[in-house]
Amino acid sequence: MKKYNFTVVYPGSFDPPTNGHLDLITRAIKMFKKVIVLVTNNTFKKYTFSVEERVDMLNLVIKKNKLQNVKVEKHNGLLVDYLKKNNINIVLRGLRAVSDFEYEFQMVLTNRKMFPQMETIYLMPDIKWIYLSSSLVKEISKFGGDISCFVPKVIISIIKQKFEKLK
Ligand code: ADP
Repeated sequence: MKKYNFTVVYPGSFDPPTNGHLDLITRAIKMFKKVIVLVTNNTFKKYTFSVEERVDMLNLVIKKNKLQNVKVEKHNGLLVDYLKKNNINIVLRGLRAVSDFEYEFQMVLTNRKMFPQMETIYLMPDIKWIYLSSSLVKEISKFGGDISCFVPKVIISIIKQKFEKLK
């Protein structure tokens, strides 16, 4: 496959990372020179895992899957500020079932007002992950259910431990 010679930023909460996120990163790194997975704090969301815990989990997943040219970073603030500061203008996002559309339109059009050079590329995951979300993983974990088919193996125990502590 042709590799495009640019870096893309894949921003998100990753609270926690799922097989859907991993699917997207794996697809992206086949297409682009470098992928920066950017762990952000969305002010409207309440997180279960700290930014550091989310960064650590992503790093474990990337290492375990031997994904090269993928870097994890964290950012507190506006995505456009991160992009401008690092001289990057391509963002990657995932598209699942219709539920993502409305929010993504709002984000793209708002970000475009602030940073007109920014473009967003959308990838769709394998059909297996089309309805998978971090919230679903958290809901199952809260009640002690089995999350092994939804998240990468290497982080299962970390997620379980977190929910044990929260009990
Ligand atoms: P955010 O709070 O920014 O939406 P998420 O971690 O929920 O953070 O999602 C980050 C990105 O990953 C979004 O573009 C979202 O659409 C995508 N994503 C989340 N889950 C999946 C999945 N199962 N398949 C494909 N993309 C996904």
